[in-house]
Amino acid sequence: MTNRREDCFAVGGAMLPVAQALALLDQRVTPVEGVELVPLRLARGRVLAADLLSRQARPGADNAAVDGYALAFADLAPSGPTRLDLCGRAAAGRALEGAWRPRGAIRVFTGATLPGACDTVAMQEDVTIEGESVIIPAGLRRGANRRRAGEDFAAGARLLSAGRCLQPQDIALAAAAGEASLTIRRKLRIALFSTGDELREPNTGREPDGTSGGVFDANRYLLGALLDGPGVSLHDLGILPDRAEAVRQALAAAAAGHDLLLTSGGVSAGEEDHVRAAVAELGHLHFWRLAMKPGRPLVLGQIGEAVFLGLPGNPVAAMVCFLLFCRPLLRRLMGAPAGAARRYPVVADFTFTKKAGRQEWLRGRLERRDGRLYVTPFPRQGSGIISSLVESDGLIELADEVTAVAPGAIVPFLPFDDAGDGDGDGAQAAEGDR
Ligand code: AMP
Ligand code: MG
Repeated sequence: MTNRREDCFAVGGAMLPVAQALALLDQRVTPVEGVELVPLRLARGRVLAADLLSRQARPGADNAAVDGYALAFADLAPSGPTRLDLCGRAAAGRALEGAWRPRGAIRVFTGATLPGACDTVAMQEDVTIEGESVIIPAGLRRGANRRRAGEDFAAGARLLSAGRCLQPQDIALAAAAGEASLTIRRKLRIALFSTGDELREPNTGREPDGTSGGVFDANRYLLGALLDGPGVSLHDLGILPDRAEAVRQALAAAAAGHDLLLTSGGVSAGEEDHVRAAVAELGHLHFWRLAMKPGRPLVLGQIGEAVFLGLPGNPVAAMVCFLLFCRPLLRRLMGAPAGAARRYPVVADFTFTKKAGRQEWLRGRLERRDGRLYVTPFPRQGSGIISSLVESDGLIELADEVTAVAPGAIVPFLPFDDAGDGDGDGAQAAEGDR
């Protein structure tokens, strides 16, 4: 049953601005429950389920940052060089040979714990050895070439916060803290469908003959590749026909046992578009019409325990909607902050006019000239033109209120190859970066 209060088009019927749709997504979607203990080697790209606190400081003790001679700064002459007695040797991970004593120096190697009252290290290339003495030149600072205990992190420090999508360096930090595994949110179980009687599986011998209107299914391959990652367990459920009953049955069956049902096509307002009606019948709709181009028909809903996202059928629109909505949705379901695709400011190398009141994205190509990054839209912007995606570096974003773009204007750009886990703040990269 449609829950009218949760259907934002129940009143007014206006097209929802993209920002509101993203806010609604954040509100209505909750992370999956269930965690698992995952060894570090399998943790990249997974989302941490609980804060990671350090059990000990790193480094555990003051140690040498270079190969050289450890000494007590207090032993150095106020001016001129100082002669110290060589009285021991310490290497990383090994016990001190000999013992430090006042006016003594210890031969040390990078990572060796500083013995006795040693608080400073002279670099080996700066000293002179004379028999059992070390001559330390003037000018050494107190604490030079010393790594302090706990300078990386203290015992009890929060190393990583719950909700963090783990990057290689996060895994290094966990390993450095002595953790062998991490508590991670479980993988998302995602069911993927295409819809449309015209769709054919690539290379099955049922080639579209050019007159029947058949087309090869591109979206399931596009979306399958976009979804492919460590936190996802993908279930490809094939092509649904344009028949209401078949769509309803398939969605109802898939809703049990999946966290997300992702479809493309069949969500416009036409008679052959059965997907939205099926979701409304089986569960409820959060939104289904957005003020955006490409991709106006975009459905967010819920069927039982499963979130439903219905992307438009046109492949370009499907990809744009994936980057803008499905990525944040996946992050939200995984228990990470939903965030938004990262935008980078670039210089428009084109003229363009558009209607106010909706957001638009153009596929564009970057070019660096005179130290600045310029962007030019691909000449054919039809939302069925997959080659426009291939020939472009990413999306030029034109805000709701923009009606014209002139050459030289600064426009936000969303690169296709970005990890997509930014905070949506377009200011991270200086103009001309990348
Ligand atoms: P629809 O949203 O179902 O009306 O589809 C809009 C357009 O996208 C139609 O031209 C469809 O043939 C096309 N389309 C839908 N699904 C796919 C798909 N999986 N692969 C390629 N084109 C598709
Ligand atoms: Mg269709």
